[in-house]
Amino acid sequence: MAAGAVDTAPAALQAGNLLPERSCLVVLFVAASVKEIARLGTAYPWNKPSCCPRCGGRLWWHGFVVAWFSCFSHCVYLRRLFCSQCRAVHRLKPRGYWPRYRSSSAEIQQAITHRQSTKRWRPDLPRSRQRQWWRRLGRMIRLVFGMSAQLTHREGFTRLIARNIIPVTQAIHHDNRHIHDPPYRIVALPGGL
Ligand SMILES: [Zn+2]
Repeated sequence: MAAGAVDTAPAALQAGNLLPERSCLVVLFVAASVKEIARLGTAYPWNKPSCCPRCGGRLWWHGFVVAWFSCFSHCVYLRRLFCSQCRAVHRLKPRGYWPRYRSSSAEIQQAITHRQSTKRWRPDLPRSRQRQWWRRLGRMIRLVFGMSAQLTHREGFTRLIARNIIPVTQAIHHDNRHIHDPPYRIVALPGGL
């Protein structure tokens, strides 16, 4: 059986099946190459999680969702999944990215480190975005470690990560600040893809 051949809807990529990124409820992080996803488009061989992280039910491929990453000027297509049991819609996203961020966590950390050591913004990323990360990071450091904490932004970034908190989050709700580990097993595709 070819990977994904049986349970992929034939009209997976029709108009109307492409929803804006926010339409999806749950983001699942999988080992995947952003460059390969951009290169292969909808033909990218995604690994399907073994079961629904919410209820353990069987998952079905459910079209694609358009997403943007800072390393590409064009959009990429991420896979969606539908759980027939709890009817949840999940979206797959490559690991190394926090929810709602188009820059990878490594890229954000490099921008913070660059700013700390050179007092300049990285020329290859929009300044407004870097300013926003810097401001939000300062807020999170004060919020989590207190006003009196003598931490640089770079130190604060590392210490927030150690506490499983997204350092540049502006989330008000505690749950949304956390870095979640994927709650399921990654399944290998046949044929070593
Ligand atoms: Zn489910």
